[in-house]
Amino acid sequence: MSGYLLKNCAAVITDDGSGPVVRRNVDLLTEGPAIRAIGENLEGEALPEGTTVQDATGWFVYPGLVNTHHHFFQCFVRNRADLDWTKLSVIEWLDRIYPVFSQLNEACFYHSSLTAMAELIKHGCTTAFDHQYNFPRHAGKRLIDRQFEAADLLGMRFHAGRGGNTLPKSEGSTIPDEMLETTDEFINDCARLIDSYHDARPFSMRQVVVAPCQPVNAYRETFVESVALARDRGVMLHTHVGEGESPVIQARHGLRTVDYLEEIGFAGPDTFYAHCWELTHDELRRMAASGTGVSHCPEPVYLVGAEVTDIPAMAAFGVRIGLGCDGAASNDNSNLMHSLHSAYMLQCLAASTRAHPVPPPVEFLRYGTSGGASLLGRSDIGRLAPGMAADLFAIDTRRMDYVGTRHDPLSLIPRVGIGMATDMTMINGRIVWANGEFPGLDEAKLAADAEAALATVNF
Ligand SMILES: [Zn+2]
Repeated sequence: MSGYLLKNCAAVITDDGSGPVVRRNVDLLTEGPAIRAIGENLEGEALPEGTTVQDATGWFVYPGLVNTHHHFFQCFVRNRADLDWTKLSVIEWLDRIYPVFSQLNEACFYHSSLTAMAELIKHGCTTAFDHQYNFPRHAGKRLIDRQFEAADLLGMRFHAGRGGNTLPKSEGSTIPDEMLETTDEFINDCARLIDSYHDARPFSMRQVVVAPCQPVNAYRETFVESVALARDRGVMLHTHVGEGESPVIQARHGLRTVDYLEEIGFAGPDTFYAHCWELTHDELRRMAASGTGVSHCPEPVYLVGAEVTDIPAMAAFGVRIGLGCDGAASNDNSNLMHSLHSAYMLQCLAASTRAHPVPPPVEFLRYGTSGGASLLGRSDIGRLAPGMAADLFAIDTRRMDYVGTRHDPLSLIPRVGIGMATDMTMINGRIVWANGEFPGLDEAKLAADAEAALATVNF
């Protein structure tokens, strides 16, 4: 079994489960998909056969980031000044963007997934959850199959959220008819994907999450049947919650969203919601009690003007928190490192309006790593310790960018931010990005192929 000895790391951020700790001037040894040891002078011991020794002088080695909310396909609709949220109402924006979304074909889903995952990997993300809810009728049902193919090509650990919408516009949703499915179509395809791809074993590279898009755009039965399927198959549940939709859910079902989902059973330790910025403290306390997690996506605050989520309250109540990029409809990049920095900075900006103190920077590092792993139901990723998956990234701190910052590796990303790509990203013991390249892949060709797929869409 092959492995790597990262020799003489300036710092390794380890965590035995009790919180991140900095270990200076140590080696990190991997064997196959896992971390075998972290300690001083590991080369003095007998190294497993096939170990490659890598000089890691000057490197800070972090656990790989875990992205818990995204919409990869939206990468093909970004940097559009004509879709400026500051000038459009939500309804105007939806009327412009959904006709574009509904044109995407199978190749677009494959190449947009490669595009997003490549950027994620370059910036230290090793596990990605994607919420793929766009199934235009003409594009067929194999869109998530193609996403798994894209993840395989790049070597990314991938959790596919099978999303979907069932409620027509005529009954109050925002979804064009050509993107709708019936509840049976949706549930049957979730079951097919679970049967075909879901792997619950340690170091699994492929999992499936049942993830109806959002309560406002689906019939109640869609959520009821999602819960039944996920609990029957032992997979996670995900949806969008608390984006301002509670008044609509209240009018329709007589309950705010959190109560509505709790009543259906779409809550618990196997469930995580994206966003949750409009939730009351009482609702957050109930989520903490049920073990329901939150994927916090800070960057839409800038582009869409979303509220700054009350992370201090969530932390104080014990809600499980992970981080997400969200899709390019509300965040034009797929850089979770950037989101981690934004998450901390935004809470500092809003600190004076909060009832609870902003958690320290290291907590935001935890949200982006072990917190995200917890949301995805994984105990084998998100921390660097012997026996954990060898999912990590390294930055060479012998650069002007890091002068004066190296005394506190735990706060470096939240407080300072890391603007450049990592020097190395490893997933499941395999180096998938190093020295500015994806080993074995031609990035220029990947980019040209993605542009060609994008050129088939009319804006
Ligand atoms: Zn979203």
